[in-house]
Amino acid sequence: MSNNINIDKNSLCKDLQEQVSQVLIRHKSILDITTKLDEYNARINRAVAKSVTSCGCISINASKQDFSNDSFEEMLDSVKNHLNGEICNSCKEVLSGEIGSYIFYLAALCNSLDLDLDEILKSEYNTIKTLGVFSLK
Ligand SMILES: [Zn+2]
Repeated sequence: MSNNINIDKNSLCKDLQEQVSQVLIRHKSILDITTKLDEYNARINRAVAKSVTSCGCISINASKQDFSNDSFEEMLDSVKNHLNGEICNSCKEVLSGEIGSYIFYLAALCNSLDLDLDEILKSEYNTIKTLGVFSLK
């Protein structure tokens, strides 16, 4: 999964935003960007569904979640993701591509609205790290 491009991991988001700003031409309109985000969100969901219905590497066995535990920490163990199996390399490759495209347009959205994706990620990380399970996600 590694490539030979030398990227400073501390500025990966900033570099990504800069690269996106230099290559996005055809879909530069905010309308194109927001609808592309919708499109790739749908494609991610479709890829998960195809992993279940076409490939079969994973299955879904969903049921009501049990939120009756006394603490959030206990719920971490009792609440399920409803997935069985392990996603295969082929499906992983498809999903990774769709997620990558989604991130491309997320960076484009940030560029259009003068938002710093790196700062957003750091802020979210700090919130999660500070609040832990109390972030209630
Ligand atoms: Zn698969």
